[in-house]
Parts: sequence; C-alpha cells; structure tokens
Amino acid sequence: MAGNWKMNKTIAESVSFVHMLKTAVSDVKDVDVLVFPTFISTNAVYNEVKGLNIKVGAQNLFWEEKGAFTGEVSASMLKDAGCSYVLIGHSERRQYFGEVDKTVNKKVKAASLNDIVPIVCVGETLKEREENTTFKVIKKQVKESLSDLSQEEASKLVIAYEPVWAIGTGKTATPQQAQEVHAFIREIYSQLYKNAADKVRILYGGSVKPDNVSELMKQSDIDGGLVGGASLEVESFIKLVKYFKN
Ligand code: PEP
Repeated sequence: MAGNWKMNKTIAESVSFVHMLKTAVSDVKDVDVLVFPTFISTNAVYNEVKGLNIKVGAQNLFWEEKGAFTGEVSASMLKDAGCSYVLIGHSERRQYFGEVDKTVNKKVKAASLNDIVPIVCVGETLKEREENTTFKVIKKQVKESLSDLSQEEASKLVIAYEPVWAIGTGKTATPQQAQEVHAFIREIYSQLYKNAADKVRILYGGSVKPDNVSELMKQSDIDGGLVGGASLEVESFIKLVKYFKN
C-alpha cells in the first residue's frame, strides 16, 4: 500500500506522520507499507522508520548520474537518502511536466541500476476512455515505458494502473473496470517478459479510500494500491494498510 503525498507536508509534518504510523502498523506483516514524501523530506522520514516495515520512496528522479542538470535528483542520490522505491511517470508528471514514455523508460533503467524499485504509472484520460481507446493507450504506455529490461529488472518492478479520470476526482474505477485493465496489463507484460508477468505487482490508483479498498483488493490482478488524497491523513492511511481487517 503506497501513499503518494505529492507536494504536501513539511519535513516536521512528514516525520510526525510516520512516527504515528510506525506504531500503528508494527503488527502488519503481509502488506508492504510505502510512503512517498517530497524529495526534501525523504531522508528525515527514512531516519524515523529505518529497519522497520515502512519503506520510503521518491516521487520522481532524473536518469543521469550527476552533472549540470539544475533542479534534478539522481537515482544514486535517492538511494543515499534512504529511498528504496520511486514513482515514475505519474500522470501529473506527464500532464504538467512533459513526461513521456521514452523518458519514463530511461528513468526505470536508472532506478533499477541503482537497486531502487520503480513504480511505473500508466492510465488513460477520460477522453481516451470515452473514445474506447483505453486498451490501445495502456498497451503503448506499457510497451514503451518498460522496453529493454532484463528479466530480473522486469520481475522486480511495480506497475500502477491509474486512470487519469479517477485521480483526485472522487470517481473510482469499479473493481470490474480496474480488474479488466489489470489483467490486460499482465497479458501485455507476459508478451514482453514471459517469466516476469506472474511476479510483477500491479497497483490500482484513483480515489482509493478506506470504504472502497477491500473490494478493489479482492480482484485477482490487483496487488495493492497507490493512494493520493486518502494517504495524507494518518488514520485513513492506517485503515488502507489494514484493509484486510475492514
Ligand atoms: C495518485 O495521485 O496517485 C492518486 C491515486 O491520487 P488519489 O488517490 O487522490 O486519486
């Protein structure tokens, strides 16, 4: 269960959040708990949860190792700060910052090379769904974002299906709509990387909340959730992590 905090929370607020979270989820064994603070809070959050069952990720990275790339952060720098995961190609990055499948692919390779698990986001817009091009769009995103990986890299990464029309809108895909696309993603992935398709974890994201999480997680190809809004309050995030108790 991954909480994407987007551009929210100061360093102190981020640390205080995980301070409360770590006690509440200390008994959780079967769910990987991930938080994605802003770059500047990652290291402080990591120091608060080091060695525990909460892992820290970043919301983006740049594919070069170092150099004259003002404003960017490399995979090795994220590793140094304590990040073991990174979000790549989130729809907000695609929409506002010009992220495309080709750059997503470069970032996936840089993350994998530095032993950081990429969580690669794909998803169709409302217009694309209404035009019945969802599967075409998803196929292109998966193929181009995830090309030329080794079987090992392909097995370790995580894919997040996030229909753009469901992000931050309160509209959730029905469990059936989500399952249909998840199964399709696994099928496409099996054509690319035969042995990795069973291992790859596919998260659903888009207005996941404590009251809809259980039905979504029951679907056979939904392996977890990537959550924005409902991950910002600690009580709500705890309920999501412990969805199996709902
Ligand atoms: C997200 O940003 O990844 C997301 C799914 O947001 P929300 O849960 O707020 O829809």
